[in-house]
Amino acid sequence: MIAPYKGTFRISQSWNNLRSNGTLHQGFDLVGIADKRLYSPVYGTVVRAGWENPKNAKQGWGRRVVVRIGKTRFYMYFGHLSSIAVTAGQTVKPGDLIGIEGSTGHSTGSHLHWEIRESDNHNLYRDMPQYSDIPNAASRTTRASAWDGSLLGSATLAAGRNSYPAAIHNATLQARLSALGFDAGDPDGLFGAKTTAAVKQFQLSRSLTVDGKVGAKTKAALFAP
Ligand SMILES: [Zn+2]
Repeated sequence: MIAPYKGTFRISQSWNNLRSNGTLHQGFDLVGIADKRLYSPVYGTVVRAGWENPKNAKQGWGRRVVVRIGKTRFYMYFGHLSSIAVTAGQTVKPGDLIGIEGSTGHSTGSHLHWEIRESDNHNLYRDMPQYSDIPNAASRTTRASAWDGSLLGSATLAAGRNSYPAAIHNATLQARLSALGFDAGDPDGLFGAKTTAAVKQFQLSRSLTVDGKVGAKTKAALFAP
């Protein structure tokens, strides 16, 4: 399960929930229980960080951070923060502090509004449960993310599997491989020949089955401490 918390959290509003005003809730609302700090689960570049409207603290997202995921066309949004720890233009990697959960903007209690959009376009919001493996139901149940191979999702990653959410997990894979010294090229989310070659080199170096596919064992090795 992928979530921006290192401590426990719960889901206060599901993704795509039909709200009383007739609009669909385009993200997940999450509430940190053990810790309100928010961390990036992806490699990327901060494209916006600050108030949506500096003149109106109750408008919309309030304090928000937007991260372009790798060099993909996908963007991750963090809304209603009480404080922000990054600046526009900065690069982030999994585990880097983004800010602290809060209730700025259009919000009635401390929570994170967490969303992914394609092309930074609000009409192109994407499936959060599919990306994160968080069950799509508001619940008092306490959950925990894992900062390990599950950052690459639950499906096997392989050449040619480039649709959402694989594109995002591919970008994380590519950036991780390159960070470990196995050049996978730009983290563009497209699993092609260069990514396959880097995966095989990594598998060879870790005495894994060299098949160029990224299943559970390779994922675990990629994020082994
Ligand atoms: Zn929300």
